[in-house]
Parts: sequence; structure tokens; C-alpha cells
Amino acid sequence: MAEILDGKLLASKIKEELKAEVASLKKKTGKTPRIVVVSIGEDSSAGSYSKSQRNSAEAIGIEYETKVLPALCSQGDLENAIRILRGDENVSGIMIHKPVPKSINYNAAYENIGFLKDAEGMSPENLGKMLLQETKLIPCTPQAVVEVLKSVPGYDLKGKEAVIVGRSDIVGKPLSLLLLKENMTVTVCHSHTSSAGKLDYHIAGADVLVAAIGKPNFVRGNQIKKGAVVIDVGINFVNEKLVGDVDFEGAKNNASYITPVPGGIGPVTVVMLMKNTIEAFKLQNRVT
Ligand code: NDP
Repeated sequence: MAEILDGKLLASKIKEELKAEVASLKKKTGKTPRIVVVSIGEDSSAGSYSKSQRNSAEAIGIEYETKVLPALCSQGDLENAIRILRGDENVSGIMIHKPVPKSINYNAAYENIGFLKDAEGMSPENLGKMLLQETKLIPCTPQAVVEVLKSVPGYDLKGKEAVIVGRSDIVGKPLSLLLLKENMTVTVCHSHTSSAGKLDYHIAGADVLVAAIGKPNFVRGNQIKKGAVVIDVGINFVNEKLVGDVDFEGAKNNASYITPVPGGIGPVTVVMLMKNTIEAFKLQNRVT
């Protein structure tokens, strides 16, 4: 029976480390890292994700602010607001709350953040630098997956077969680079792997399986290799209940370690947003 990889516990350990780092940065610079989350239409701070961001920021000693733009704001209004934050020396990190209205080009707006205040690590500059291993501003969920994998007791990632199901820009693709950096052998599967009838084959060979598909209980327990480490990134609501992309009960029988949903990757992802904000602060203030 698999052991549970407790994301909440890991998140609270990392928060303690970041809290000490922020205290030392405050001493060195006399300033406090600050993240601003821009949302359109409604105050994102009401949502549970934003609440956990705020709680995490406050626990670490980072200032957390939301900037709410009117529901009918134009692309230009959004980009102007972001450029003002980018020019504000009291702002260390900027994030755009998703989803945005259909009239907004999210990627075009995002580019206004610039790579130095890119709290989510999703700017073209930081994604490129990540390929070259030249940035610490790395997409939060992939970073969280690596943190969780490194927390598995006595588990050496080197040379293991990692199979990622899902190739999104925000999870699967950047994660494949991070796992390569850990010297794993990485396979990335997607919908065409399934339609070619090859998904079972790849999943069965995974020492580490990461599911980032967005389909409730998609990966079944009997597909998973005995002893595999299973990381479930999925967030799906079924009858108002939060479930992952892996059939947790079935997978527990074959996996050696598994992340639950909720309480697995999610809490660590939030802390990685704060870690990026601190890294951005360090870059802007030229401190280590
Ligand atoms: P996307 O919808 O952007 O990507 C889903 C991926 O799954 C695509 O690559 C798609 O393939 C693949 N896929 C879909 N159906 C199949 C199938 N039948 N067989 C194999 N692959 C398939 O999702 P995201 O990456 O943004 O999110 C994935 C999940 O992770 C969601 O539940 C989301 O809510 C959650 N999430 C959780 C986060 C966290 O912090 N815990 C953060 C971000 C996301 P193709 O490319 O061919 O279409």
C-alpha cells in the first residue's frame, strides 16, 4: 500500500525556510518582497486559491495585494496597469489571475510583466532561460512536482523512467525539462499517445508517473507499475468534490508513494509562487 506524499506538510516546511530567508533579506535591504495579483472583473481574493496565496504570503512575510480592474477593461487598460506595476520599485512579483475574459489576449498581456517580476515563471524570457538553466523563476507547478519528488525518502531520481501525461505549456512541457535536469529519462504523453493506443504501454513503464490531464480519475490503478511514485497534478470537481486525474484508491495498491488530491501538489505550488517572488526580489535588489 502506497505511502502518502503530504503536500501540506512539505509546503509548511518550505514556508519556514522562506520565512527565514525573507527576514534576512529585509535586514539586508530594508525592503519587503511584495506580490501583486491582477484580476479582471471580480476580486480574485475571494477565491480559495487566492486565499491560500495570501495565507502563504503572510506566513512567509511577503506582502500580498490584489489589483482589480473593471470587468469591461480593454487590453490596453490591462497592459497599462501591468506596466505601472512593472515600473513600481515596491512591487517584486506580478501575476495575472486566470481565467481572463475572452476579449483579453492573456499571452500578450503577460509579456508586459517582463522577466524580472515574472512570479509564475511563464514569460518567454524565463521559459527560454529555463531551457538553458539560467533562471530561478520557473513555472510553479512543475517546480512543486520536483520538490515533492525530492521529498520521497531515499529515492534517487537519476536514471529513472519519468512519464508525464499532459503536455501543456504550464505543466507538462516545462516539467519535462526539469526532470531531464534531474537526469531522469523523460517521456511526455498526450491525447495522440492515447489515440495511437500507446498510453497503457508508457504508463506501465513509469517509475515516476505524473498525471496532468484534467480528466477525473483518468489513470486507473491497474495501469500503474508496482512500486511507482505517482504524482497527481489534476484538479477536477465531481459532484462538488475535488478529485485528481488518478484513481487514488486503485493506484494506492500499486504505487509506493502517491500524492493525494487535495493536499498534494496544490499547496506546494502556492509556496513556489512565493519562492519565485523572493527570487525576483533578490534579482531586482542584486542580493543573494
Ligand atoms: P491542459 O488542458 O492545458 O492540458 C491537458 C493535457 O492532457 C494536454 O496535453 C492533452 O493532450 C492531455 N490529454 C487530454 N486528454 C488525454 C488523453 N485522453 N490521453 C492522454 N493525454 C490527454 O491542462 P493543464 O496542464 O493546464 O492542467 C492539467 C490538470 O492539472 C488540470 O486538472 C488542472 O486543473 C490541473 N492543474 C493543477 C495545478 C496545480 O497547481 N495543482 C496547476 C495547473 C493545472 P493534447 O496536448 O494532445 O491536447
